[in-house]
Amino acid sequence: MIAARLEAVRERLRRACERAGRAPNEVELVAVSKRHPPSVIEAAYEAGQRRFGENYLQELEEKAAALSHLPELRFQFIGHLQRNKAKRAMKVASAIDTLDSARLAEALNRHGESAGVTRDVLIQVNVAGEGSKAGIELDALDALVEVVSKLPNLRLRGLMTLPPVDESEARRAFEALAEARARLGLEVLSMGMSADLELAVACGSTQVRVGTAIFGPRP
Ligand SMILES: *Cc1c(COP(=O)(O)O)cnc(C)c1O
Repeated sequence: MIAARLEAVRERLRRACERAGRAPNEVELVAVSKRHPPSVIEAAYEAGQRRFGENYLQELEEKAAALSHLPELRFQFIGHLQRNKAKRAMKVASAIDTLDSARLAEALNRHGESAGVTRDVLIQVNVAGEGSKAGIELDALDALVEVVSKLPNLRLRGLMTLPPVDESEARRAFEALAEARARLGLEVLSMGMSADLELAVACGSTQVRVGTAIFGPRP
């Protein structure tokens, strides 16, 4: 069941890349497993999936402990991160995709230093400036990039966004983020979910975060 849905998503990705004139290995799939039990993560792992996204720290910690027998399993943190949880996040997540302030970056770096770990990070950008969404605004991005680039225990890999619901606004947001990524010379562009992965790939995404299309509706 999970294996077939995963394969269907991979096929959507292959087609989206083909239509966009891009190589299929340019876009990485992160399986978003929030609110689903460890057993379905294990099923996806057995079907070849290695990277998973989780939104809640405690849930991530519990799943990482339950699945510690899977050697290549990696969890990325994709939820909103409070500064007082920076230490735990640095410990358990292989990457943090939702960096959105200099103070959070500095807290993560400090805990990375004392634990002797360096983590990949993405900066979350609220491209359309929607009040309901986390992330920094586009005009504050360069200043945050400058801060994060100097922190030795964070590796700044790229940018991520959650787009507006409206499709043409989503396209504008994806295009603006792609432009920012190119201008800043960053590698990763994390955008696209179950409903809009084709649009995101057409706009240059290098990493899609897909939950519902793989695992079904969240319980
Ligand atoms: C839940 C979530 C997703 C996955 O969304 P689906 O619509 O289920 O594919 C992707 N990114 C983030 C940040 C999420 O919180």
